[in-house]
Amino acid sequence: MDGLPDVAEALPKPRLDYPFAAPPERGRTLEVAPGVRWIRLPLPFALNHINLWAIDDGAGWALVDTGTRTEETVAIWRELFVNHADDKRPLSRVFVTHMHPDHVGLAGWLTRKFGIRLWMSRLEYLSCRAMVSDTGREAPADAIAFYRRAGWSAEAIEAYMARFGNFGKLIHTLPDSYRRLSDREEITIGARRWRVIMGNGHSPEHACLHCAELGLLISGDQVLPRISSNVSVYPIEPDANPMQQWLDSLAMLRIEVPADTLVLPSHNEPFRGLHDRIAALETGQQRALDRLRRTLAQAPRRAIDVFGALFARSVDPGNVPLLGMATGESIACLNYLLARGEVVREADAQGVDWYRAHPDPSLHAG
Ligand SMILES: [Zn+2]
Repeated sequence: MDGLPDVAEALPKPRLDYPFAAPPERGRTLEVAPGVRWIRLPLPFALNHINLWAIDDGAGWALVDTGTRTEETVAIWRELFVNHADDKRPLSRVFVTHMHPDHVGLAGWLTRKFGIRLWMSRLEYLSCRAMVSDTGREAPADAIAFYRRAGWSAEAIEAYMARFGNFGKLIHTLPDSYRRLSDREEITIGARRWRVIMGNGHSPEHACLHCAELGLLISGDQVLPRISSNVSVYPIEPDANPMQQWLDSLAMLRIEVPADTLVLPSHNEPFRGLHDRIAALETGQQRALDRLRRTLAQAPRRAIDVFGALFARSVDPGNVPLLGMATGESIACLNYLLARGEVVREADAQGVDWYRAHPDPSLHAG
């Protein structure tokens, strides 16, 4: 899942190098490095595709991410197996970068089909199990209260309640056991060493895979070249500060991964220019936060009042999925400023939260 286009996306873009002219065709793979193949699957969202990676694992192929559970993606998986039948090696294991349905959706199907293990970080695996268990439930009172505090209308709340409980619909039943991926762990895949680098902000314990020997980083959704990652606060943890975590993760990746690395992202295309991309994402985010600071200095605002300061596209309040994403991203920015002591939050008589610039800026936590 990607984020809303930020106003800052209008900034001059860094010159990234995209070494591949086109993605692999439907049902085919494309070699991007020795023993590493690119697979592309469609997604039933505005963001219409995801990239998966197959890594030569000796007697089989290790897969990274799986696609959503839809009839079409299962059909394409079957085409992939037929088209690559001359390579008799089966899938050997399934790595999943994080819990979102486009990444984890078919993990249960593929691991059961091949009798293989899912490799995933513990927080992603357990969070996914928890989210899936909400599928088919009524919207929780805590979630309704969260969106009321953000300033949502009664109509938007009603539409949210009617839609609630869909998270697990694009996810095949998860495997009941898994192999935990840990930060900085070194894993041998085939003949090569890969290192796990955990990030967060987009999801709770997102695994990137770095192979220094090949000069490759499988970045998942942690760094994307043409769109920015969705960084949102969700009702389950209203006071979370994922924006700080995301910015910290970008800074960490710059230190851990060399600038000339070929980055294999989950969306868009493989690219070189990781450090330039990180710098552009940081600059864009800081400018967005500056616009938010200015708008809060003018008058107190609710979460739903700051979309214009943060996002390039307008948010139709009737489009509840978009409204939810914009609200989550706005609260991520507001919580970041709250944690820094730059703004204060007060609930009005209706229980709606209003944010305003801190009355005494000298007291900023900095
Ligand atoms: Zn994601």
